[in-house]
Amino acid sequence: MHNVTLIKGDGIGPSIMEAAVAVIDASGAKINWHLAEAGLTAFEQTGTPLPEATLASIAETRVAFKGPLTTMVGEGFRSINVELRKTYDLYANVRPAKSWNGVKTRFENVDIVIVRENTEGLYVGLEHYLSPKKDIAESLAVITRAGSERIVEYAFKYARDNQRKKVTVCHKANILKFSQGLFLNTAREVAAKYPDIEFDEKIIDAACMHMVMKPEQFDVVVTTNMFGDILSDITAGLVGGLGLIPGANIGADAALFEAVHGSAPDIAGKNIANPVAVMMAGVMMLNHLGEHEAAIRMQNAIEKVVNEGIYVTPDLNPASTTGTKEMGLAIIAAME
Ligand code: NAD
Repeated sequence: MHNVTLIKGDGIGPSIMEAAVAVIDASGAKINWHLAEAGLTAFEQTGTPLPEATLASIAETRVAFKGPLTTMVGEGFRSINVELRKTYDLYANVRPAKSWNGVKTRFENVDIVIVRENTEGLYVGLEHYLSPKKDIAESLAVITRAGSERIVEYAFKYARDNQRKKVTVCHKANILKFSQGLFLNTAREVAAKYPDIEFDEKIIDAACMHMVMKPEQFDVVVTTNMFGDILSDITAGLVGGLGLIPGANIGADAALFEAVHGSAPDIAGKNIANPVAVMMAGVMMLNHLGEHEAAIRMQNAIEKVVNEGIYVTPDLNPASTTGTKEMGLAIIAAME
């Protein structure tokens, strides 16, 4: 029995998470779900978007399965997602993007894993105004050797453990010679320890162009925080959009699994949100928990239903009237 903190989240969160939990429970994995709140829903109920009880639950279970959270706008509110990553030092953000046979896109055979540094760079939260009139602002991008080393190590270990052939580091060291230079140099040092994995370097702007022209040249990509944020949305677009991409946030002693997309308030409450991204995050979580058989069973069933394209939500097949819940039931049926 594995203990997992379950945060259903805001907007479409509860409906996609309930569908995903039903599929995980049907996969054969034994999960003891610890229900916790965060985000706008938590703020409305408890006066804080990240209650102590939620932090205590993750501190105990060390694994969280999280729905999207609506970011509250306005000074004084920090992103809860950034807060969770900082609290548990979830330094590696892993976002796999793979083509689906049943999802029509411009490219076939895309299979890219973005490994994004999750705690440093422009997301350290060091921002301020430099003038009383607030007409000059400064944001600091902090890069450390230790932070660079552990994320590049993670990418190479991931490549080795998952039978991947190549790691590409994406950077802007030609302009940001200190911060990005430190990241690139550290990546080169780490790469030298993995002679069995091909190593490539690309300047981020060229990498973006290559990615939308010849995505097949990318395998595992490792990069700093902001570049990873942007690149992983490009890879999402290559394989059919945000509704399909899972994300894992991995730290030394905790891990959090979620979809890459947000709470989609425009479609909340309509039972039309695509649950595949969170379900694929569930597959990543089962693998993390060592439940490999359940993970494969679940992944095969999701792929079967998506590739058949019948019992899928309207974003995948505009002619379909299948809802979020019904797509989940079709995936459970495909496992049996
Ligand atoms: P979004 O990802 O919620 O939505 C962008 C577009 O994609 C919308 O048109 C939406 O309907 C569609 N979409 C997203 N997920 C979908 C799904 N599963 N099925 C079908 N369509 C889907 O991005 P946004 O509108 O910029 O953000 C909404 C809120 O979510 C904001 O408050 C934002 O801060 C937050 N957010 C949270 C996370 C997170 O919790 N990890 C990530 C991104 C954004």
